[in-house]
Amino acid sequence: KDIFVSSAAAVHRQARVDGNSAALICENADVSFTQLSERVRYLASILVNGGLEVGERVAYFGLNSALLIETALAAAHAGAIFVPISSQLASDEVVFQLNDASVRAVVVEEEYVTSIDAIVELIPVRHYVTEGSASPASSSTIHSRWQRISAVLTGALGDVCDESLHVYPEDIAMLFYTSGTTGRPKGVALTHGNLWWNHLNVSAAIDVRPRATTLTVTPMCHIGGLGAFTLFTLVHGGTVVVRRHFDAERCLHDLVAHRVARMFAVPAIYAALAHEEKWDQIDLSSLTTAVVAGAPVPSQLIRDYLHRGIRLQQAWGMTETASFATYLPPQCVESTPESAGFPMPYTQIRIVDPQNGAVLTEPLVPGEICVRGPHVTQSYWKSPRATERAIDGSGWLHSGDIGYLDSRGLLYVVDRIKDVIFVAGENVYPAEVERVLVEMPGVREAAVVGVPHEVWGETPVAFLCKVHDSRVDIQDLREFAGLRLARFKLPTAVYCIDALPRNVSGKVDKATLRSWVLEGAQTS
Ligand code: ATP
Repeated sequence: KDIFVSSAAAVHRQARVDGNSAALICENADVSFTQLSERVRYLASILVNGGLEVGERVAYFGLNSALLIETALAAAHAGAIFVPISSQLASDEVVFQLNDASVRAVVVEEEYVTSIDAIVELIPVRHYVTEGSASPASSSTIHSRWQRISAVLTGALGDVCDESLHVYPEDIAMLFYTSGTTGRPKGVALTHGNLWWNHLNVSAAIDVRPRATTLTVTPMCHIGGLGAFTLFTLVHGGTVVVRRHFDAERCLHDLVAHRVARMFAVPAIYAALAHEEKWDQIDLSSLTTAVVAGAPVPSQLIRDYLHRGIRLQQAWGMTETASFATYLPPQCVESTPESAGFPMPYTQIRIVDPQNGAVLTEPLVPGEICVRGPHVTQSYWKSPRATERAIDGSGWLHSGDIGYLDSRGLLYVVDRIKDVIFVAGENVYPAEVERVLVEMPGVREAAVVGVPHEVWGETPVAFLCKVHDSRVDIQDLREFAGLRLARFKLPTAVYCIDALPRNVSGKVDKATLRSWVLEGAQTS
């Protein structure tokens, strides 16, 4: 068995290579590689001395912070499995994840101690650590807190765990619970091997100057925040600017102030940036790798960015693929702005008939996107049935997304199978309708969902958010969409709302929209 390098070992190495360089730039302080490496070893000691064993789960509860990254690396250092849990979840969702993962220890951000206190009483978590940051300099603080809240820790803290444990490629490194937009969240098990093959994919396909600065504003409790560029940057000795959550004005400031070279975000974040007043006035020339994925990408968004001189690079991926499975290189953005790109170098993509699983080899024929590669998960945590349903015997993962390949092998994502609306025997893809609606002047965002209809089975209805102060005339909208879409695709009701409901990872919560219609929301 080949021994493998965990991300923690890679960060310790960077500390030896260039310890003074900045690893993290956070709200309160910058953290050098030396400091990061020390904090990781220190936090690992606390956990191991408290009884955490190899292969056990250690959760993090909070928002984006240095502590989240330290916990992820400390888990890797100790050979444990990292489970990031967002503090924005409802308490029964947190209980579900802690229970499902049989979490042994939770590292909690100071400001969420009260909320986790109540939760931890309900479940058999054995101990937890709290601290704003696991700094060896304040060891006595951590130690006394630890003793105060731990039922099991006795005696003094032992030696700091100096050496990272060896890991194997097939050892599980992290469990990410998917956003649950299509049902109960499932724990996606990503191995150390999956994460490294993702790094290899990124190195080989994306123009990433190894030590360039990354900005992370999306939640690191999801793969897009942690796996896409954050860990990649750290294991390569680069700097990550970490923001607790997304704030458009602050984000623009960060892009300029830190000469950020790469960023990953969902389309809604890029759209919000483009609506900022300062958008046109600032120098964004450093931002060469602006990658967008996670939800359907309106082509208008790509055009707005092109107009601004930025080639927004669309990718497609899932938690299950440890981030990117396809990526559109900047040189293709102008010619094929709607594509999600080519498969990554160590990734295979194929399209299959969702009814019978037959492989569709003709270009441009839509079907279910399937993906295979060494970065793709091979299991859902404790869910052999879910695993069997999603991954076939040859390792192909069925994504649940509809898409097609063109003759050059570029992928186009159409929509999620579960969101397709069946109108009198015709398929309506909400993403296609949404793309048209956001092209209408005055419309900032749009979401389309299917609701039951007595005659046609289902019918599309639209939710719109208007650009500040603008008027959108519903009759004009129908005419605008009517010129661009077949009649059966036109929304039969339109609701104007201030903001679309979104889940923690920034995706539109379509279940809530459907329930609003069923509960009788007022149309415009
Ligand atoms: P759940 O599985 O619980 O429903 P989720 O599907 O949102 O959650 P993620 O792994 O966060 O879980 O997101 C992956 C999904 O995001 C993809 O399956 C796809 O539907 C969507 N997605 C990703 N990239 C794109 C893209 N470029 N265009 C359209 N949709 C995308």
